[in-house]
Amino acid sequence: MEDVNKEERENYLENPEEYFQQVSSELSELRAKIKKEIASDTIVVAKDSNNPEWVKMQECVDTMANNSGLFQTPPTLLIHTPDSKTYISDDDMFNAIALTPEYIAIKEYSRDYFLGHLNQFKAVMAHEMGHLANGDQDIKNQIERNINPSNQKWEILADRMGAIIHGNPRDYAKYISEFMFYVSGKNETKPNHYSRTHLSTNGDARMLHKWADILEREGAMDKETGEIIDRKKAMEIFNRSKDLTTSLANIDSFSRR
Ligand SMILES: [Zn+2]
Repeated sequence: MEDVNKEERENYLENPEEYFQQVSSELSELRAKIKKEIASDTIVVAKDSNNPEWVKMQECVDTMANNSGLFQTPPTLLIHTPDSKTYISDDDMFNAIALTPEYIAIKEYSRDYFLGHLNQFKAVMAHEMGHLANGDQDIKNQIERNINPSNQKWEILADRMGAIIHGNPRDYAKYISEFMFYVSGKNETKPNHYSRTHLSTNGDARMLHKWADILEREGAMDKETGEIIDRKKAMEIFNRSKDLTTSLANIDSFSRR
């Protein structure tokens, strides 16, 4: 297996402080680029737009952020116009991304899908907020991803955290799966396709329903409604699962080298 992180790891080990500075200035550059695009209207800040539907999308994010108690300030939802130069993804999947620790962005054509599928929108936002709550866009995690072999733990943990932030892990499992199957449905084999970083859509759906089962069994989630009833307990279960998932992912990626 080719070790794509070898060079990054060597740079890091040579001078960790300098490496930290480098990743940190990359983040500053990205922020500056986003601000410039907001000023020139190639990226739209949902809450500042005069479109009531976009404003409502931000309100959905605000409500989850406030209920979760995990965000000092709710993440800002950005909508990329086709003229935006800031990278999201080249593929034609509907997508949303946690860009920096404070921004979540969606593509303009994803926005049109999401407006007609608000349950799926809420679940996808919860997933991206899961990345942010886990600190995945922070410098420390960015470095960890750069220097270690890639593995699936980041997405698994974003989904588990996303289910808690969403507030109803059973609905989260249902709607995220619906969204994923819709996106991957164009190709029959795709629901079973997994990568070094992502579970297959089938695998993800199974994992998320099991995650809801665990939260339910341990008393963090109401059996009838699927709502989180004990957030403190849900976070304790998450933190326990985090340590185990991290260990397993590390064993997995190192043994495959
Ligand atoms: Zn993700």
